[in-house]
Amino acid sequence: MSRNAEIICVGTELLLGNIVNTNARDLSVMLSELGINVFWQTVVGDNPDRLKAAVDLARSRADLIITTGGLGPTCDDLTRQTVCGAFGMEMAFDERAKRDLDAFFRIGKGGAMTENNLSQCWLPVGCTPFYNTCGTAPGCGFTAPDGTVVVILPGPPKEMNAMMRNGGIDFLRSVSDEPIFSRNIMTFGMGESAIESLLREEMNALTNPTLAPYAKEGEVRLRITAKAANRAQADAMIAPVFADVQRVLGDKIYGCDEIDSLEKAVLTALKARGETFAAAESCTGGLIAKRITDLPGSSAVFRGGVTVYTNDVKMYLGVKRETLDAYTAVSREVAVELAENVRKNLGADYGIGVTGVAGPDSDGVHCVGTVFVSLADADTTYVRALQLGEKSDRSRIRTLSANHALDMLRRRLSGLPVAP
Ligand code: ATP
Ligand code: MG
Repeated sequence: MSRNAEIICVGTELLLGNIVNTNARDLSVMLSELGINVFWQTVVGDNPDRLKAAVDLARSRADLIITTGGLGPTCDDLTRQTVCGAFGMEMAFDERAKRDLDAFFRIGKGGAMTENNLSQCWLPVGCTPFYNTCGTAPGCGFTAPDGTVVVILPGPPKEMNAMMRNGGIDFLRSVSDEPIFSRNIMTFGMGESAIESLLREEMNALTNPTLAPYAKEGEVRLRITAKAANRAQADAMIAPVFADVQRVLGDKIYGCDEIDSLEKAVLTALKARGETFAAAESCTGGLIAKRITDLPGSSAVFRGGVTVYTNDVKMYLGVKRETLDAYTAVSREVAVELAENVRKNLGADYGIGVTGVAGPDSDGVHCVGTVFVSLADADTTYVRALQLGEKSDRSRIRTLSANHALDMLRRRLSGLPVAP
């Protein structure tokens, strides 16, 4: 039986619009990777009667219920008691949760422990506990007497995600009759419909494993999903499809599985070669620097970035006045000088230069979405002249420009043509 799930996120601040329900999104992504259908997402405030009503409705239409939020020690945190009560589960005091709590307070993270902290240590009898690696409240999973599978998780997104990785996902696999395993393939430089048309026959022919594309801003990913008894069996089933996709998409593939962003591909390749890069960014305003420095370990490969927003700052970095006068700031020539100068001045092996019109207003010369991205190494400087679409908004133009810059660098590092 494949399971049908309902996600219930508990929190009045979600209903008030104070915070965005990222837990529902993150859980939905994880569940779809596990092959579990999510048919409902519910949000309910910190109110035990309405939460009880939400749980009763959910158990009438879903066989897997996942809750987030309301596990803390304060009086508005009522999820554990309410959900377990609704299923008639008995509770028991969990000593390991108590030890974790003691340790958490001993190392001074949480101030002084109060009596109500201990309320978090009560878990339903017979459950699989999920201990909290970055907070105090443990979560848990259990199969209720009526057969409904219930998973209870904390509200803070960091804790919720860590708990799913450390126990939650394995628990869901263990209660699923048809465990699902998947691998993800990341591509850049080809649209979703182009990829689909190349792989349509294969996608339609496959039943287990399946192959499906999904778009992420400016990129396309493919997921191969197998139902199998275990990971090794799934990997063996996935391998031939993986090889087919590689044969068809070739160097448009920049990574798979944990290499799930262009910046990670660049970081990994530069680290392996012991090389560095630097970036001079105009229209991306530091986005490339932000994306690479989001990754731990980036200091080994990223020398630094300069936001060269105005012409005098471009000149400060070394762009010549004559170049700006002759070609304007948004030009192939300025992108080249940015890349070459940032490489030299910041002492990097590679330099990236980006200049363009992110809109919504044009610069009077170029239409919105005109972007020049350049990559310089010690011998050669490459340029991509992009038209990212007059109707694209600022954020999309900036994201795509950064994607292109990182893609040029990863292609250079893999010995592929950089600016075809
Ligand atoms: P705590 O022990 O921190 O009180 P908790 O399990 O009781 O954890 P809540 O009190 O419901 O969780 O939420 C704590 C915080 O986590 C919220 O203030 C909010 O910032 C964040 N949060 C809760 N639910 C969600 C959600 N569905 N999506 C995104 N963030 C959330
Ligand atoms: Mg709370």
